[in-house]
Amino acid sequence: MAEIKNLSIPDLVRFFSNPNHDGVCPVCGKDEWTVNSYENQGSNEILINTLPQVRYDSDKNTAAILGASHVVVPVECDNCGYTRLHGVRRILSWLENNPEQENSDDAEKSDSKDL
Ligand SMILES: [Zn+2]
Repeated sequence: MAEIKNLSIPDLVRFFSNPNHDGVCPVCGKDEWTVNSYENQGSNEILINTLPQVRYDSDKNTAAILGASHVVVPVECDNCGYTRLHGVRRILSWLENNPEQENSDDAEKSDSKDL
């Protein structure tokens, strides 16, 4: 599984609060989204999702699940439920390349996971 050190809910809030990362739902046209990753209360853990990696043999028409591979953060449209996935590797890269500004820590203090 990919290494996801130092990812936190405030990091996700900061990433998805960036105007360039918001957007209009391609299904219903609304622009309200909710990040579907949660802190495991009482710990430093975040409950996130992965996509399974499957070995498919076309000769035998069989598939074997190898395990989790791609770590993703689902973001769901509040209106219709359309869900988009963001790869954690890219989120971490953006966070590293866009360090938090001194005077823009409002998102850090928010408990809300809404966008
Ligand atoms: Zn929608």
